[in-house]
Amino acid sequence: MRPACRPPLLLRTTYPMAEDGASTRGGELATIRAQLQAERERLAAELRALSGPGSNGRADPAFPEHPTEHAGDMEEHERSLALQTNLRRMRDQVEEALGRMGRGEYGRCRACGAEIAIERLRALPHATRCVPCQEAGRG
Ligand SMILES: [Zn+2]
Repeated sequence: MRPACRPPLLLRTTYPMAEDGASTRGGELATIRAQLQAERERLAAELRALSGPGSNGRADPAFPEHPTEHAGDMEEHERSLALQTNLRRMRDQVEEALGRMGRGEYGRCRACGAEIAIERLRALPHATRCVPCQEAGRG
């Protein structure tokens, strides 16, 4: 579990001025949706690469499990498993956010029902709680 996330500072100068349809909340959400879909593809590709033969990057199907595998390989294997677990969790969060978009529930705090600020969604697209609820540990 990470401590409460704060939006990266580098985002603060990139807000477009509200002057056309693309910078309405709906337009912002469409952008975030496209980002989530791209992220889902990226995570799926990484997971495929990790879970392939030789799961540590060395595709080596001609040489199956070998009993004399040394300790370094084991550590690498465990790191790879931890990474896969991480990637799956991120993918689940992305899937869940896309699912909420499909149901029209996206962008609402699951604890208090308030609209989550678009700045927060931009920084953390899978956020399910508004900042006050996140900080209070509600939901
Ligand atoms: Zn809330």
